[in-house]
Amino acid sequence: MKRREKNRGCELERDKLQAGLERRRFLGLLGSLPLLTLPGCRDGTRYSDADAAGLADQQREEQRRSGKGPYGRQLYRGYRGLAELPWFELDDNSRLRCTDEEIPAVVDIHAHLGMSLLLAPELDLQARTARVQHMLDCDAEDPGCDLDLDVYINANFTPADLRRLRWGVLSQLTWGSSAAVTHTIPNLLDEMDATRVGRSLILPIAFGLPFGDDLTERWMQAIAQAGAEKRLLAGASVHPDDPLAAEKLRDFAARGAHAVKLHPAGQRFFPDSPELHPIYEECGRLGLPVVFHGGRAGIEPSYTHQFTLMRHYEGALRDFPDVQFVLGHAGARDVADAVPLAKRYGNVWLGIHGQGVSQLAELIARVGPDRLLFGSDWPFYHLAATLAKVLLVTEGRPEVRRAILRDNADRLLGGARA
Ligand SMILES: [Zn+2]
Repeated sequence: MKRREKNRGCELERDKLQAGLERRRFLGLLGSLPLLTLPGCRDGTRYSDADAAGLADQQREEQRRSGKGPYGRQLYRGYRGLAELPWFELDDNSRLRCTDEEIPAVVDIHAHLGMSLLLAPELDLQARTARVQHMLDCDAEDPGCDLDLDVYINANFTPADLRRLRWGVLSQLTWGSSAAVTHTIPNLLDEMDATRVGRSLILPIAFGLPFGDDLTERWMQAIAQAGAEKRLLAGASVHPDDPLAAEKLRDFAARGAHAVKLHPAGQRFFPDSPELHPIYEECGRLGLPVVFHGGRAGIEPSYTHQFTLMRHYEGALRDFPDVQFVLGHAGARDVADAVPLAKRYGNVWLGIHGQGVSQLAELIARVGPDRLLFGSDWPFYHLAATLAKVLLVTEGRPEVRRAILRDNADRLLGGARA
């Protein structure tokens, strides 16, 4: 595209953003599921070249430090390779199992089911398949892919993996995804059983599409149909542009929703924008925690990075002290900016999903163990990937382990209706 035309498109889009009129539909969806690179625009007043450079530095620095932290090299061959660790074994079917009975039944606050949106055919979420095809499909071959636990987990995607992932996103909107067919309730429950995960909070996302965008309703129904309500705790999502958002939240809460997922990159909003206030207010009234996707992951389209800078969450955290906010991924690659927020505001929790072992140890040291929450981001990754990290870092510290794996989540969700 000629530069001038592109810039003009950006200006137009920015105007719409500022006026709060943009429906953000199609692009929002593509931007969210991690990774179709589409032309997008950024608000120069809220995202600078220094911000972009900071992300690149973080990624480089993390690569440089991998294996040089307190846990040394933490490289495994696929998820199955985690059987080298003392808490895991491979069973007769070469399936990874957590065999340490001392580990408390885990609560996972960050999981999803298979997504089929827009034109994609409906998935059978009750089906069982021979194996789960995680988005980082590290066990596809034997031996599996290189799995480094000392970097942010998405650094394990190769360029070829990322191309496949983008293709997969497109298929979830159109002809249907062969991976998503395996992201079913029985498959998740099997993996939970194998890894001592007792309960999982299931987080849909409302993308703001014109149709085929009712993941909250579909997943609630599927969980009920499976009779799995005790183990799969339904979350809800609303789109910030939806004029019925508050009403829908009340309805979802009445139907047993345990938390509300909001995804600033996927839904394309600034979390401190006033248009979100009615949603936060309603969550406060209903006692529903807000689980944010937090921070820049680094593999999503770069124009969405503006939405997830940690400083853009602060207004919400500060102005809604009665709402419990979870920053998913502990701020992802912006973890250094998430830590001060967690220290400053008592209503902030950090979901630890994604962070490497050295970083996780640092989070425990700097934030303390009492507001860190276990999250897996299934089906992106095997449940054991995050579990292994927590076990490595909490060895010899049973109270810390228990807090992160279970007690903190019980405290957070107890306030809602667990
Ligand atoms: Zn997620």
